[in-house]
Amino acid sequence: YSPIHVVGGGLAGSEAAWQIANAGVPVILHEMRGVRGTDAHKTDGLAELVCSNSFRSDDATSNAVGVIHAEMRMAGSLIMACADKHQVPAGGALAVDREAFSDAVTKLINDHPLVSVVREEVTGLPPKEWDLAIVATGPLTAPSLAAAIQEETGADALAFFDAIAPIVYRDSIDMDICWYQSRYDKVGPGGTGKDYINCPMDEEQYNAFVDALIAGDTVGFKEWEGTPYFDGCLPIEVMAERGRETLRHGPMKPMGLTNAHNPSVKAYAVVQLRQDNALGTLYNMVGFQTKLKYGAQAEIFRMIPGLQNAEFARLGGLHRNTYINSPTLLDPSLTLKSRPGLRFAGQITGCEGYVESASVGLMAGRFAAAERKGEAVLLPPATTALGSLLGHITGGHLITDEEPGKRSFQPMNINFGLFPDLQPGSIVKPEGVKRFRGKDKTILKRQLIAKRALADCTAWLGQSAPFAVSA
Ligand code: FAD
Repeated sequence: YSPIHVVGGGLAGSEAAWQIANAGVPVILHEMRGVRGTDAHKTDGLAELVCSNSFRSDDATSNAVGVIHAEMRMAGSLIMACADKHQVPAGGALAVDREAFSDAVTKLINDHPLVSVVREEVTGLPPKEWDLAIVATGPLTAPSLAAAIQEETGADALAFFDAIAPIVYRDSIDMDICWYQSRYDKVGPGGTGKDYINCPMDEEQYNAFVDALIAGDTVGFKEWEGTPYFDGCLPIEVMAERGRETLRHGPMKPMGLTNAHNPSVKAYAVVQLRQDNALGTLYNMVGFQTKLKYGAQAEIFRMIPGLQNAEFARLGGLHRNTYINSPTLLDPSLTLKSRPGLRFAGQITGCEGYVESASVGLMAGRFAAAERKGEAVLLPPATTALGSLLGHITGGHLITDEEPGKRSFQPMNINFGLFPDLQPGSIVKPEGVKRFRGKDKTILKRQLIAKRALADCTAWLGQSAPFAVSA
């Protein structure tokens, strides 16, 4: 076979190269470190972990990250094999010795007979002669390549910062307090007039909330990140600091909304949540992008009436992050619709985190190898963690045009809200259990989704061409 080119030797690119090579197809991996660095990487090693050394929970029975770990191990993941080999004690989490981990990835890639590593910056889109290529250049993609991607995809299709509002699991919102209604009952394209979940606040609750936002601990921007307050994406705590009434006249304005539980009392302020995924399991807090620390976010946002028991699929943030508008640009196998043969992988596709980036590299590598070999490109089922993340990136995210000029697609970690629901009637109270509360149901639901994911992943891998599975 002629080689597949992978640009970027980070978490995603290293995994993609490994999967391709283990499918028997040669790979040329282009990594610029050694010639040019990034603002966050410190070494020339492949798959360098730029910040924390944690791959998060390793519990495959009831945690979505644990499930994706397990699926990646089943698929012969290089990243997971090296993480397992170099793990350090971290309770239920999988944490690694970062240097030993990166050294192991680098050695296995360098020693693989079908992989050639070229240390160079790729300064434009992969040339047409590289008929099959994967761009996995991450959140800190070098500027000239970023400019070329922007030229190919359109100016609005590549973001340089994320502005993430927290996302809440729908089933953790208290609908005895909240109600569904669009402002002024407006029916937008595909809407119903009841597209938002509304959380009401009285004056005292609003004032206490604003005080908490102002007092909350925030994370600073890194020196090289600048302060990217742009197109209406001010952090919620910065808006609160600008004046006590600012939020009430901005994202928390109560106009055009009537509390269905108490129509005669006008709310003083309202927090709105908008459906975030096609499945309707996740809702994002509209206008609540924030630099508050994670602990402070959970505590302060649970002060909002109706969100007192909120479970967050993702907390908010604002970071330097290069990523494309994948749901509109990529096909289901991660190929750029405008350039057949050119795939994207890793954080640049709009996933978030080391594990997720590597998992998208794993899928892109397998898909590209299958294409090169003339085999069917088999997508993982939507019920698997891999499939649900892929679905979110390439189409499952609900695209809205509620806020003109703003892109609604923001980076996402793997979480149970991305998986399709279970068949009705699947959650049955276990025998001998007296009290079966909401929390018990949630745990059982997650266990059943995890079990289904692993079974369906086994079946998917059984259909795929055999891969070598040891690192
Ligand atoms: P990377 O691992 O960054 O790999 C991309 C590679 O492409 C790099 O090696 C880069 O040198 C190379 N490259 C870029 N441009 C070119 C080019 N033109 N030519 C050739 N090579 C190029 N996630 C977590 O789970 N936990 C964390 O603690 C965490 N902290 C983060 C901290 C920072 C500062 C940043 C920016 C991100 C962080 N992330 C974290 C998010 C993300 O998961 C990681 O950045 C992850 O490494 C992304 O994997 P990737 O393979 O997509 O990109």
